[in-house]
Amino acid sequence: DKALTLIADNIGRIDDYPKPGIIFRDITPLLAHAEAFAACIDVLAQRYREQGITQVCGIEARGFIFASALAYRIGAGFVPLRKPGKLPRQTYSRQYALEYGDDELQVHRDALTTADKVVVIDDLLATGGTALAAAQLVQDCGAQLQELAFIITLNDLPGVSKLAQAGLPSYTLCRF
Ligand code: 5GP
Repeated sequence: DKALTLIADNIGRIDDYPKPGIIFRDITPLLAHAEAFAACIDVLAQRYREQGITQVCGIEARGFIFASALAYRIGAGFVPLRKPGKLPRQTYSRQYALEYGDDELQVHRDALTTADKVVVIDDLLATGGTALAAAQLVQDCGAQLQELAFIITLNDLPGVSKLAQAGLPSYTLCRF
């Protein structure tokens, strides 16, 4: 597919960043390429526009970029899933393991209700720890999670299977 090739071709690869042995996938060239960035939002909008999605949740920070454009495009709201200490009202919190130490995501308790049908968006799925925490926050609010979508999925890491084991469908635009 032409759109997906354009997207994949505009993702940068940086070897040994942020540490030796790690290959970092850089979305900044994709964002700066007008047609490729539009293609991301077009493909996602095509997939979700007829599904009755009421809210698009973006994971801080790169997920926000795609989630907000998609929300606008499909006529849904945008809900930020944020790092701890950023949201001013009552939150739900989920911790998850990183390679070294823990991290945490939070959502405002009243950001989603049982009436909401939600997609969660992030730039990249690796081990799936971040995405699983995001899914749990949507479920903590009692909302219906339709799918988690990513621009990039790393094939050698267990993200897709981790989500599938939790009964969570995922979708990706590119795989590396
Ligand atoms: P996971 O929790 O699935 O192991 O890691 C996914 C999270 O880490 C995402 O929020 C993503 O933004 C970030 N991440 C991990 N590796 C990369 C990478 O190579 N490129 C980018 N853009 N983000 C990454």
